[in-house]
Amino acid sequence: MKLATIGVGNAGSKIVDRMLEFESRTDRNLCRHVHAINTARTDLAKPDYIPEERRVLIGDTNQKAKGHGVGGDVEIGAEVAKADLDEIRRAFDDVEIHTVDAILVVAGLGGGSGSGGGPVVIDALQEMYDEPVYALGVLPGEYEGGRPALNAARSLQSFVSKVDNFIGFDNDAWRAREQTIEEGYEQMNRELAARLVTLLAAGETDDSDVAENAMDSSDIIRTLDTGGVSSIGYAATQVEETSEGLLDRWSSDSQRVNRDDGSQATKIKGLVRRAVNSRLTLPGEVSSADRALAVISGPPSEFSRKGIESARQWLEQEADTVEVLVGDDPRENSPRLSAAVLLSNVTEAPRIDQIQNQAVDAQQKIAEQEAVREEQINDLITDDNNDLDPVV
Ligand code: GDP
Repeated sequence: MKLATIGVGNAGSKIVDRMLEFESRTDRNLCRHVHAINTARTDLAKPDYIPEERRVLIGDTNQKAKGHGVGGDVEIGAEVAKADLDEIRRAFDDVEIHTVDAILVVAGLGGGSGSGGGPVVIDALQEMYDEPVYALGVLPGEYEGGRPALNAARSLQSFVSKVDNFIGFDNDAWRAREQTIEEGYEQMNRELAARLVTLLAAGETDDSDVAENAMDSSDIIRTLDTGGVSSIGYAATQVEETSEGLLDRWSSDSQRVNRDDGSQATKIKGLVRRAVNSRLTLPGEVSSADRALAVISGPPSEFSRKGIESARQWLEQEADTVEVLVGDDPRENSPRLSAAVLLSNVTEAPRIDQIQNQAVDAQQKIAEQEAVREEQINDLITDDNNDLDPVV
């Protein structure tokens, strides 16, 4: 698939940057256009791979933002993006949309810029283009507290209703206790980038000479066509450099030794099973998925038609749906064989319920505090018998 990828806010931009890093490290070419949109000048300076001219600062003339971010305020994030819609639209002017299959908007839902600005950017994209618009949204960890949960629970509704599919990532599930928050984010972003790029880069080549079971971008689009909230599983293994393996890689197609034996088939099925049973980007009930798709990526010498077939049968049972596709993504020089599994429209994801509960509590607490605030301030500054008057 060929993508236009847009990071909104700090987390969104960092994740897109890691996607570009993974692409360049693995010789893929998924993101044909990239943009980072943010309200904070300092955050926009952080990416290593997003070109300078693709970074768009919004809200720098807004009194509440002034180029310093929106302080986690989702309403201001949305307000600033709406006010700068012309600038956002202009940034997309040079996107040759006929060169991409879809658009991906990436944002953290717990903050202000991505959470509030993301849905505004998505509206603009849906208006401008016919291509599907997907989102990757990061759910905040419980440890972040009530305000990020409230932002995320509200923003999730906007994202999911506006995009063609929403892929979730749960910071809570991916947090490693022994790391600092920044170290943790860095590792999560790399893990997430590997999953997104391995999955979505399938079928990205223009080669008409594709392998028999090659996954196509239209397969991915069809799987995501359900709408709703989706999740990705992933597993990888090193390719053994046996003499047979080397021979495979250096011989021409016609000479290629047929290694499509039982062990290779077992390896492929085992990899898909491991991917589904691994920590998903958004943990959820696999059997509640509407459709599923698995991409087997690696050197073609490792592929197995039998393996693909038995992986498909296994996935069909596991996800309890007949809408299952499994296909190859040939990467001639890859030292790894990997499986990325997309579970589309997973309707049971406990973390979303938890965030909603945390958000409802937070909203009540905020309302209660607002209701008594004036009274408490008044109590504090007036004497007990109300004997004193203000100066002016
Ligand atoms: P924004 O710039 O106002 O959109 O806010 P941020 O993107 O900085 O933060 C929004 C939310 O994203 C936070 O509440 C965290 O849950 C999450 N977050 C921030 N940075 C990262 C990151 O690098 N990786 C991940 N996975 N999550 C992040």
